[in-house]
Amino acid sequence: MTFFVFPPPAPTVLPVSGGGLFPVRRVFCVGRNYADHVREMGNDPDREPPVFFTKPADAISTRPNIPFPSATRNLHYEGELVVAIGKEGAEISTGEALQHVFGYSVGCDLTRRDLQAAAKKGGQPWDMGKAFDFSGPVGVLHPAKEIGHPATGALTLSVNGETKQQGDIAQMIWSIPEVIASLSTYVRLAPGDLIFSGTPAGVGPVVKGDRIEIHVDGVATHVFTLV
Ligand code: MN
Repeated sequence: MTFFVFPPPAPTVLPVSGGGLFPVRRVFCVGRNYADHVREMGNDPDREPPVFFTKPADAISTRPNIPFPSATRNLHYEGELVVAIGKEGAEISTGEALQHVFGYSVGCDLTRRDLQAAAKKGGQPWDMGKAFDFSGPVGVLHPAKEIGHPATGALTLSVNGETKQQGDIAQMIWSIPEVIASLSTYVRLAPGDLIFSGTPAGVGPVVKGDRIEIHVDGVATHVFTLV
């Protein structure tokens, strides 16, 4: 008889506006997708294409209270548009890419900037800077059949009511269809996959007790507090 040696974990889920739960499979993130953020991190947006990295599915959390992570003295927020994949595919063309999108939300790519900087300097993986527990707070998912496929819209992030990031998703170096097409040359995208699409300029540190609000016009708002 085959049996689990311990109970398998419950899937990570996102609530869907209008009803239902979206089971999260994998989490892909785009680095360096807004030119002004590429510059603030000391890179050249004209010569360096966006890079992909990942977070584990269980880093995603819709909780209003997010535990402040261990092992960092410089936790940064990155407000981002999050794309939810609803249909599998590999080698997807830009023309067909949006057919693979279930919907959209907003999220925060929480980053241990000190660990990421040390990893970059040493030519080492970013994982412990990016892929830790609760590193991906995300809001309610809004189906494309409800909100369409937004290509423009203000993206703002505030900390304790003070605006820190003010961009527009139209400023992405790689558009959402281009991100999906590129990513699908590396992996077969599947229903449940999330894509964090990158952050505009204005990233910075947060501390325990800070309240972070992320908004993309026409998509969603999400608020969480670091505890
Ligand atoms: Mn990011």
